[in-house]
Amino acid sequence: MQHLKVLVKYFVQYKWHLILGTIFVFLSNYAKVLQPQMIREALDVVLDNIQQYHTATTPEQKNEIFNNVGAETLKFALLVLGLAVLMGVFMYMMRQTIIVMSRLIEYDLHKEMFTHYQKLSTSFFKRNNTGDLMARITEDVSRVRMAIGPAILYGLNLFSTFVLVIYAMLRVSPKLTLFVLLPLPLLSFIIFKVSTIINRRSEIIQQNLAILNSTAQESYSGIRVVKSFAQEVQMTDLFEEQTLNYRARTLDLIRVESVFFPSMALLIGLSTVLTVYIGGLEVIKGNITPGNIAEFVIYVNLLTFPVTAIGWIASLIQRASASQKRINDFMNEKPEIVNPVIDPVDIVGEIVFDHVSFQYPVTNIQALNNISFTLKPGERIAIVGKTGSGKTTIAELLLRMYDIQSGSITIDGKEIRDLDLTNLRRRIGYVPQDGFLFSDTVAGNIAYGKPNATGELIEEFARNASIHNEILSLPEGYQTIVGERGVTLSGGQKQRISIARALIKDPEIVILDDCLSAVDADTEQKIMNYFKENLKGKTTIVITHRFSSMSFYDNILVLRDGEIAEQGTHDELMKKGELYKEMFERQNVEINNL
Ligand code: ADP
Repeated sequence: MQHLKVLVKYFVQYKWHLILGTIFVFLSNYAKVLQPQMIREALDVVLDNIQQYHTATTPEQKNEIFNNVGAETLKFALLVLGLAVLMGVFMYMMRQTIIVMSRLIEYDLHKEMFTHYQKLSTSFFKRNNTGDLMARITEDVSRVRMAIGPAILYGLNLFSTFVLVIYAMLRVSPKLTLFVLLPLPLLSFIIFKVSTIINRRSEIIQQNLAILNSTAQESYSGIRVVKSFAQEVQMTDLFEEQTLNYRARTLDLIRVESVFFPSMALLIGLSTVLTVYIGGLEVIKGNITPGNIAEFVIYVNLLTFPVTAIGWIASLIQRASASQKRINDFMNEKPEIVNPVIDPVDIVGEIVFDHVSFQYPVTNIQALNNISFTLKPGERIAIVGKTGSGKTTIAELLLRMYDIQSGSITIDGKEIRDLDLTNLRRRIGYVPQDGFLFSDTVAGNIAYGKPNATGELIEEFARNASIHNEILSLPEGYQTIVGERGVTLSGGQKQRISIARALIKDPEIVILDDCLSAVDADTEQKIMNYFKENLKGKTTIVITHRFSSMSFYDNILVLRDGEIAEQGTHDELMKKGELYKEMFERQNVEINNL
């Protein structure tokens, strides 16, 4: 329960919803409890009149009694109807306050969690898998909502029904009340125990369902691999095994439920039998009227639903507490990288890496070791080297996705740790290796970092990235939805859209991470020509695997195992005749052999 303490601030925030809701619950139950009393009175009046009818001697008297019964029953019927309407109105109001409050809190939780997620550093997202992050913001929040809304509502309902019904019962006959309530503690205990079993089994079913879902999802996403390896039968077998498992678990649950509901009906029936039996004896003794028995039978029925809800409420709260713990764990995570100042100054673009070493958190992989280089404003640098040599890490460090452990990285003479983080990232045009596109239109994706970009500007940058014509041939041109929910683009198309997306921001620093690897040689040449002409004045870092247009760069860093093995211009490195020359020539041989 202590995990749910954090919710107190929301209850304070929405105190009026809660206070009014509580009042409405009581009013609604009050109207409900009055109904059996009306029925009792009606029944007693009818019985009374029947007796008088039998003893009446003249037809006039009999007629009068007959009319009297009609009028009286109509009066009580209208009263019961009126009370039912009143109860309904208050019920509507209690849902409008308490359930609405739970939805408002759910909205706040969603918003707060999403905002918090956005602040956390990339290493947090590496440590936690996407499914888990999603589950916390959707499933866990919805479980907490169930405890705030339905559990509070039914809890209040339970409490007020008990107080009002038992008070009404005691007023009639304490003895009868005692007997009638006798089976209820047993009933609630059994319900609590059985609900625990039901919940445990439901959890197992949920887990099985999650496994089933992920197998299905994987085989759909990977359908090309499944088919090309002719693994359909094996996948079907795997799926069948998991569905069988799922079926067995659901049958386990049904077995418990099948015993549970009839036993409940039996215990409730027992209460009714006791009411009628003990009540009958009391009527004979003249302590109560026959109408009281009818009244009590209705009371017993009024109590059964709240009693059955006890176990359910308890388990809702238990689950919510576990979910809230998981939410709290995340909300207590502190972002490792924070913005030190708001100071959106212009950036000129001088970059200096001075003896930079960097180890990735969690894995402790030493990605960079003693890296030093300088880039004057407007200079262009290429970074080459084998996969895993640390090229992308350099780009990520400049964007301050991670903080370095030793050395310094400065831009325009200032440590990047001390710069305005948002401003820094806004002024760097980064084309990452996997040009991730959102489920949005092509135009929306290009204008991602510059939301007010006009259609013409978007088109201009698409032309610059040699993708304009291909966009036009998409079903709805620039308005075509791409990404997960839209058309599938080729790797090269995605790369070029993400080039347009990075450059439309008019950044002072440009970082291109192997962004032409999936583009054909002609298009690559066109884009390189555009870079040559138009990236003048922008400090540019290009990570590449292809040794084309190497004279474009003022400096080339050759990385090996996180260290700079060589650096210089293309001509210098060729003259030196070591690693760079070797890599350059190997690639030319490969190209010539094509
Ligand atoms: P390159 O871009 O040259 O292929 P990277 O900079 O991506 O190389 O990787 C350098 C080293 O750091 C590799 O050994 C890689 O496994 C490791 N690495 C890269 N990204 C991460 C990460 N997010 N967490 C832990 N280790 C990483």
